[in-house]
Amino acid sequence: MKIAVVGTGYVGLVTGTCLAEIGNTVVCVDTDKAKVAKMQNSQVPIYEPDLETIFKRNIAENRLTFTTDLKAGVKGAKAIFLALPTPPGEDGSADLSCVLGVADELSNILESYTVIVNKSTVPIGTAEKVAERLSVKSEASLDVVSNPEFLREGFAVEDFMKPDRIVIGTNSDKARQVLAELYAPFVDQGSPLLFMDVRSSEMTKYAANSFLATKISFMNEIANLSEKLGVDVDAVRLGIGADDRIGRRFLFAGIGYGGSCFPKDVTALQKIAQVSGYDFKILDSVNQVNRDQRKLLVEKIKNHFGGQLSGRKFALWGLAFKPDTDDIREAPSVDIIKGLIKAGATVTAFDPEANGNISQLFAGEKGLKLVEHQYDALDGANALVIATEWAVFKSPEFATIKNKLKTATIFDGRNIYHPTDMEKQGFHYESIGRKVAQGE
Ligand code: NAD
Repeated sequence: MKIAVVGTGYVGLVTGTCLAEIGNTVVCVDTDKAKVAKMQNSQVPIYEPDLETIFKRNIAENRLTFTTDLKAGVKGAKAIFLALPTPPGEDGSADLSCVLGVADELSNILESYTVIVNKSTVPIGTAEKVAERLSVKSEASLDVVSNPEFLREGFAVEDFMKPDRIVIGTNSDKARQVLAELYAPFVDQGSPLLFMDVRSSEMTKYAANSFLATKISFMNEIANLSEKLGVDVDAVRLGIGADDRIGRRFLFAGIGYGGSCFPKDVTALQKIAQVSGYDFKILDSVNQVNRDQRKLLVEKIKNHFGGQLSGRKFALWGLAFKPDTDDIREAPSVDIIKGLIKAGATVTAFDPEANGNISQLFAGEKGLKLVEHQYDALDGANALVIATEWAVFKSPEFATIKNKLKTATIFDGRNIYHPTDMEKQGFHYESIGRKVAQGE
């Protein structure tokens, strides 16, 4: 099938590449000229495991091409995927200007039946708005379908290729047929295709992300209470996660969720509820708990050093909002760096993939240095701070860490070490929801 994908970010590029991988001919359209030039040069603009191999293979097979020209890109496409940004507007609601802007452009372009498939996370009723915009000028019969994306950054290719489910919101039989044909290879391998009405599909995405964010904030509250009561939150996690009704995932206590989705989607759903005259009480707390949790590590550091951070130096491991991505949108590391610098400290940081994005974000600002090797961040630092649970941080050479740090002190925002082990190794070790190892 000939497919166009408009917006070639984390979702669009993975969608386009994976749809090409199963044999479709895909044109990816993006307004970012530098990004398109890079992709035309066979360079992947983001870090995502396994993406580069299939990206290059499908370019070589002429199934995957890139353009900035929307009209040329969508020519002959049976389905046009919209994977456009929907960032929070000033009031927290999703900003639909990109999605509606592209709909306006398409209304001038489309000449024959096309299915517009919306992959962006959008408020309930957006497909209807897009359809209205398209019908203003376009004489072609069009269907606007909701097909929310559930991929996780860091596992995006795996999640796209082996989805738990594919949700499609449409009332049109014609659109249903096109998408059933396109997704048939996934259904054949066992992934269920869930058809529903458009509005329910749009809500499914917000409900999924808000539920997962709720799980995280709930566990962080349990962790904070555990610290006061001498309870080990990791034992509690294992104890409740073994229950199928609860499940093992998204129960890790830490320094809060980040990324481009959870924070904005929880806030957008709050706004949707507010506009609809419904007081969605849980979401207010989920948001507030997360905001507080992101400040926790800097507070622990301040307490440990008697409120005196001026002139101190900290090593920071992990900048991406989660492992296996270079994405730093809403990353807790950014709050930690800002908090430490504001308190008069300096930070030397390392991330396996996100150094480049952080250096752009902090360009021209003082107090942050980035290094290419994790152990180089440690030299003469008062403590090591861990903000992302990259695998490479999980079994480090503790003797080297101890030698390089000024004092053997670790603040772990992701609970990747065990307090008892750290105590034996002579570290002062503070984590989330577990006992403090006092060190030597
Ligand atoms: P992104 O910012 O990584 O990518 C968006 C891309 O769209 C960029 O390359 C940008 O240059 C391009 N773009 C902007 N305006 C354009 C226009 N008018 N025409 C063509 N291209 C344009 O965003 P993302 O993370 O891929 O997210 C896209 C949507 O998918 C959002 O609604 C997001 O909430 C949703 N989503 C994201 C994830 C995720 O893990 N990132 C997961 C599920 C859903």
